[in-house]
Amino acid sequence: MLNDKFILGGIEISKDTNININIELPKLYNTPTQLPVRVIRGKKDGPTVFVSAAIHGDELNGIEIIRRFRKLNILKRLKGTLILVPIVNVYGVMNLSRYLPDRRDLNRSFPGSSKGSLASRIAKVFFDEIVLKCDLGIDLHTAAIHKSNLPQIRTNTNNEYTFNLAKAFGAPVVLHSELRDGSLRSSAQDNGVPILLYEAGEALRFDETSIRIGVNGLVNVLRANKMLPYVTRKKTKKLPVITKNSKWIRASSSGMLRTIKALGDTVKENEIIAYIDEPLGDETFEVVSPFDGIIIGKSEIPLVQEGDAVFHIANFKNLEIAENKIEYFNEDAIEQSEFHELNNEEIIE
Ligand SMILES: [Zn+2]
Repeated sequence: MLNDKFILGGIEISKDTNININIELPKLYNTPTQLPVRVIRGKKDGPTVFVSAAIHGDELNGIEIIRRFRKLNILKRLKGTLILVPIVNVYGVMNLSRYLPDRRDLNRSFPGSSKGSLASRIAKVFFDEIVLKCDLGIDLHTAAIHKSNLPQIRTNTNNEYTFNLAKAFGAPVVLHSELRDGSLRSSAQDNGVPILLYEAGEALRFDETSIRIGVNGLVNVLRANKMLPYVTRKKTKKLPVITKNSKWIRASSSGMLRTIKALGDTVKENEIIAYIDEPLGDETFEVVSPFDGIIIGKSEIPLVQEGDAVFHIANFKNLEIAENKIEYFNEDAIEQSEFHELNNEEIIE
């Protein structure tokens, strides 16, 4: 798409160019505010893909994923165009907040409007300047505040193209997820731009495994999309756990949450995952799994109110296979050493 003439932020970018561009956003009072974007165009033609992070301003793993990914030497062999947007919600990142100063959620404001709310105007700039120029988007998220997610790709598994890319990414879990109104994914898809959503780790924290799976995942998807070459011999890789449905379990009572299962653990139907204890009462309530599956998300706060979502379980029947796959993907992420330029980087503990 648009391989010869590519214009972003009013600047024409020719092939074989690697450039930072700042796109004007609504000012914060008198302070000019810009959306920083890196555009990398290869010598050869190919698809145009964007990678975005921090649409929710407190979800930081994606910023680090893009920072590491951008330094990879393999990008010199890119076919097509990459648009990297490490911080979409610049206002939220400054405030360590998921939301915008108008308290709206940017990811419920797409495709946006130039006459709408602040959130809607920012969404419009991002959507028109970046999303609509692309053939594919990869949007990086973490769990919401005080929750954590096992690295997972969420996409429409009924679409063969995105399903194949989701499997190629190399996260331990691929989850079919329905579209949410106003989300980037839903609006982009309505305009013919498929989106892969990577969800991994916690808000306001870095998680090394999530970051590494993310960096490799971007390379893996671009390879599967014929934009990057395979440099090493392709190993036969395992398929991730693929699941069509999942469920958040809610606390049946208020109290202190004593968790006995970890993220990535498998659980049987009716197996106890945690206990809820009253601070002075003698009663203890059990939190049990509604079906056989894997814990793909959990609350990190040991205090719960009745009705709080505490565990996210992905439905999967064969627990032995699931255990095996999750172990494989986590170890692969830590041990893999294909990108030598990353090996000298200090590891986040
Ligand atoms: Zn998010």
